[in-house]
Amino acid sequence: MSQVKNIVVIPGDGIGTEIISATRRVVDEAFSQVSVGANWIEKRAGGAAIDVDGVPLPQDTIDAAKKADAVLLGAVGGPKWDKVDPAIRPEKAILGLRKELGLFCNLRPIKIFPSMRAYSPLKAELVDKVDFVIVRELTGGIYFGQRQEASGSGEQEAAWDKEEYARYEVERIMQIAVETAKKRRGQVTSVDKANVLASSRLWRKIAEETAQKNADVNFDYLYVDNAAQQMVVKPGQFDVLVTTNLFGDILSDEGAVISGSIGLLPSASIGQGTALYEPIHGSAPDIMGQGIANPLGTILSAAMMCRYSLDLPQVADKIEAAVERTLEEGYRTGDIYTEGMKRVGTDQMADVVISYL
Ligand code: NAD
Repeated sequence: MSQVKNIVVIPGDGIGTEIISATRRVVDEAFSQVSVGANWIEKRAGGAAIDVDGVPLPQDTIDAAKKADAVLLGAVGGPKWDKVDPAIRPEKAILGLRKELGLFCNLRPIKIFPSMRAYSPLKAELVDKVDFVIVRELTGGIYFGQRQEASGSGEQEAAWDKEEYARYEVERIMQIAVETAKKRRGQVTSVDKANVLASSRLWRKIAEETAQKNADVNFDYLYVDNAAQQMVVKPGQFDVLVTTNLFGDILSDEGAVISGSIGLLPSASIGQGTALYEPIHGSAPDIMGQGIANPLGTILSAAMMCRYSLDLPQVADKIEAAVERTLEEGYRTGDIYTEGMKRVGTDQMADVVISYL
């Protein structure tokens, strides 16, 4: 092996174990074709960690993640832990990892493979060529600002949340948007509400400064209400869409819906430390243990990991092309199955992807 990549792998809960084991096989095969080794360091988080360690994110998992080249996660949570103390809920594992690793940016590619157009709730001609990335600020804005719970009484009862952005927070997310666009079609759309919000006016000012410093990237600016409309009216126009934590939360779910299947979408959280890659879906406890979960969202997350953290863009391309071919040839897990297609389980889907690598 010419090089070895250290990957912390966290299966988590529910279907996590199944989709991660399928993904590992795909990555191992893709790596072996370019003489790269994968050193998988398996760690616990979520409900699985609550059961064994008493906390959703053991220190041992944090320490290993900090030292690794990348972290690949399945999913966490499930009904078994619905009644645990809110301070140790399984989802705290993901928030904790983002905080410990300084992950201030979420990258969510929204791509509709040609063979999957019919699954979108939008008309086929609208979803033609949908292939964009939402770059969402992840650790600032109103979700992390000061808040005042409801107080007072009667008509005067009131509550508030503060939306605040500092220059450094906007500058670093714009930088990621620019770098992402340079690897794609060179177009950044910055989304804000600068006609109303002071925090958005700072956001836009810094976006315009970033545009001036990067003449090779084409910037445009949309108010969030218009962006939400454009995503359903003409989603093919976007390349990289950069926005705040709150607006990104909403727009990335809108993007997921137009793609038609949450089982297919990958994501990455990146920032100062080791980056974290995971599918956007949850632990799907309703189908766990049956071997029928769709592993493609996790396999595509691994492809992102190869591109953004492991400096293996050729492996990323290869995995993505193999997934696309698998779908074109009609292989479907139950969540995306339609009459006339070839129904497969989690492991078989991975086998087909491997055969097309
Ligand atoms: P979910 O995404 O787990 O499931 C929603 C529906 O989609 C279910 O019917 C499920 O069977 C199906 N589904 C999801 N992924 C699939 C896949 N890969 N293949 C086939 N079908 C798939 O969302 P939920 O039901 O709201 O949440 C279940 C648990 O997951 C909860 O405990 C929730 O807190 C947790 N969750 C975790 C994450 C995460 O780990 N990042 C994200 C969302 C939800």
